[in-house]
Amino acid sequence: MKIKVEDINAEGLVLDETFEPSRFTAVLEGTDVELQVPLKATLELRRMGPLIEVNGSIETTGAAALCSRCLKKYSFDVKAVFRSRLIHGSDGGAREKELTGDDLEVSYFEGEEIETFDVIAEQLSLELPVKPLCVAACKGLCPYCGADLNAKECDCLKKEKTDPRLEKLKGFKVK
Ligand SMILES: [Zn+2]
Ligand SMILES: [Zn+2]
Repeated sequence: MKIKVEDINAEGLVLDETFEPSRFTAVLEGTDVELQVPLKATLELRRMGPLIEVNGSIETTGAAALCSRCLKKYSFDVKAVFRSRLIHGSDGGAREKELTGDDLEVSYFEGEEIETFDVIAEQLSLELPVKPLCVAACKGLCPYCGADLNAKECDCLKKEKTDPRLEKLKGFKVK
């Protein structure tokens, strides 16, 4: 939804929006994540001089991702609240330094309107798992036979105890 900057005042403008999963195709490109149900978002925009303060939340259930260890598809929920600031203009280096004194995230917009989808899409991309895992302790696949080690233990690792590749593998497991 496009919002005219002049319609935003200091009292705040509250918006509820729902976005179809297909809207996020570009955001999710190159990730192994897909949304299955529409994403709900709330936004509260407040104009403070040259800044627009944003308080918002995003929520969607049953998003699907591929586990980076066992390659199985699993589902997870996205639920996040966020605060950020929008500043008119382009992403100028000098200006950015001046404003990064606090931890608030700063984004830029151009023209006289704000596209709320852009704000939401940016927040969604921050919430995506960098290294998707079905469960934190996922054991992954055996590098030798491909067995899903969550389901059963194979003998490959025991057999190849002296294989130097195994030592590296142990290092990985600890992480
Ligand atoms: Zn897994
Ligand atoms: Zn194996």
